[in-house]
Amino acid sequence: MRDFIYVGQPQRVVFGAGSLARLAGEIDTLGARRALVLSTPEQRPQAERVVELLGDKAAGIFDRAVMHVPIETAREAREVAQKLGADCAVAIGGGSTTGLGKTIALDSGLPIIAIPTTYAGSEMTPIYGITEGGLKKTGKDARVLPRTVIYDPELSRTLPVRLSITSGLNAIAHAAEGLYAKDGNPVMDLMAAEGIRALARALPVLRQTPDDLDARSDALYGAWLCGSVLGNVGMALHHKLCHTLGGSFNLPHAEVHTVVLPHAIAFNASAAPEAVRRIAEALGSDNAAQGLQDLARDNGAPIALKDIGMRAEDLDRAADIAVSNPYWNPRPFGPEQRGEIRALLQRAYDGAPPS
Ligand code: NAD
Repeated sequence: MRDFIYVGQPQRVVFGAGSLARLAGEIDTLGARRALVLSTPEQRPQAERVVELLGDKAAGIFDRAVMHVPIETAREAREVAQKLGADCAVAIGGGSTTGLGKTIALDSGLPIIAIPTTYAGSEMTPIYGITEGGLKKTGKDARVLPRTVIYDPELSRTLPVRLSITSGLNAIAHAAEGLYAKDGNPVMDLMAAEGIRALARALPVLRQTPDDLDARSDALYGAWLCGSVLGNVGMALHHKLCHTLGGSFNLPHAEVHTVVLPHAIAFNASAAPEAVRRIAEALGSDNAAQGLQDLARDNGAPIALKDIGMRAEDLDRAADIAVSNPYWNPRPFGPEQRGEIRALLQRAYDGAPPS
């Protein structure tokens, strides 16, 4: 018997190779006239291309997006938007650039058009993060949800191979946890399984031929589906561990997700057998946790925390933080399970098989 609540999110999604060319029309559809274009310093050339495309609909470029959205950067971007008379912002880039757009929207109400170039999925969620005095605060607010998302696989062709694989696994993590979410629903289950399937198919091709447009399209399609799951249902143990390791130990976002996911899925396998069966099926593997670790390893991604900057002496503290304020999870992981979580972190640190 099914029992669920499903709420659709008010977003317009434009998908397809070359769809960047539709940006000016999308600005018109929003009823806006002048866009501030946001990017990281590394992606300034892509931002410049956007400005060229927009002509007099471009107000200017703010190219200082960085990981974790420092409050000073957010304030500066808001001031620049105001000074240039922008009435919307276009965020071209990964989760860091989309995150900057979200903080602008939170304060000013400016509509955001997101043009994602990684597979992180932030563009599909009403969740924002902002860092003040070294502390990252996250929140949920409908105002930060990008109003329009343009997915153009051409733009992800330049994403380096290693980041393509880890970012793809970051996306898969949203779908995997969505399949056992407390507030899950059948629509999200379908999107999650299809998202995992598309990414599992695309990543090995991208490893070999990073600019294969069909595989880029498949991966971005999977990222959209997985990001939608992240935006609609609650996340569990895996995301808590990654927030702990990323937030308190400054490990790289997509790589942490890649390393931890097989271990979190193994931990939950007995408590969420149907979800884990669906993950395995979508991966084309007979074991979800091992299948995820193989997908990472076989495609050159890291599988051990020790290889991505974690220090052995910090594992105890990481376990303490992870079990304090635990998220809902199909298998509880509060202070009483600290020993099991510490053991999980040790396996992730070593790159041991998930169990
Ligand atoms: P990122 O946005 O930090 O990008 C990593 C690097 O790759 C940057 O230098 C960027 O310029 C570069 N890059 C991105 N696309 C490229 C391309 N196509 N070609 C060449 N270079 C490219 O990385 P990310 O993993 O996308 O995002 C991580 C951040 O997003 C984290 O801070 C995370 O917390 C946040 N995030 C938030 C949500 C949410 O719902 N709020 C969801 C997912 C991620």
